[in-house]
Amino acid sequence: MVIGLGRFGSSLALELTRRGTEVLAIDNNPKTVQHLAGSITHVATADATDLEALRQLGVPDFYRAVVAIGTGLEASILTAALLVEMEIEDIWAKAITKQHGQILRRIGVHHVVFPDNDMGERVARLVSGRMLDYMQVDDDFALCKTRPPREYVGRPLGESNLRRKYGVTVVAVKSPNENFTYATADTELSYGDVILISGRTDDVERFAELP
Ligand code: ADP
Repeated sequence: MVIGLGRFGSSLALELTRRGTEVLAIDNNPKTVQHLAGSITHVATADATDLEALRQLGVPDFYRAVVAIGTGLEASILTAALLVEMEIEDIWAKAITKQHGQILRRIGVHHVVFPDNDMGERVARLVSGRMLDYMQVDDDFALCKTRPPREYVGRPLGESNLRRKYGVTVVAVKSPNENFTYATADTELSYGDVILISGRTDDVERFAELP
């Protein structure tokens, strides 16, 4: 179930539907609902802060819910509180500010996400360095798609001391017109390659800045 079909909620509901997940999407704006009808499994117009309306939609039977109302703080919190009260097993909610996130956690939301902040941080990394893609896997662990620095081109990874020197591991390599394959100690990197590296956030960033 996805509640709130703004930009974030609607992309989420559409992507889940595309992946074959059955989704009930709720928004209190009939125009939004009308626009998405037909593209998402079930779409309904309802005020998610209204307990009775949620009951009528069968919300208490759902296993997982995402509160994707961001800008309406009161509606976001009230909706999340109702889902907690209904004992939905896995509740996710989007937060706009740190405090909003804290409140959501306090009332019992299981996972709080900050899509706007996360995206801002991610894009900052991408535009300011050589990273082609970046994913923060944990608080201090990241995966990054980048190009091999000059000094690591043309010799086997096993001889490069990369892990000791920079704390990063080359996970996979992609040569032009080929697919990604696992990197081994014998893998030799070339200029046109794209590599996937993992490691602590600082180490990954430092490595991705190498010429
Ligand atoms: P985004 O930034 O992802 O576009 P918004 O916070 O602007 O997200 O969008 C919130 C969505 O949630 C809007 O489509 C709005 O109509 C809907 N919404 C707001 N309050 C309620 C509510 N009480 N019940 C259901 N939907 C709501």
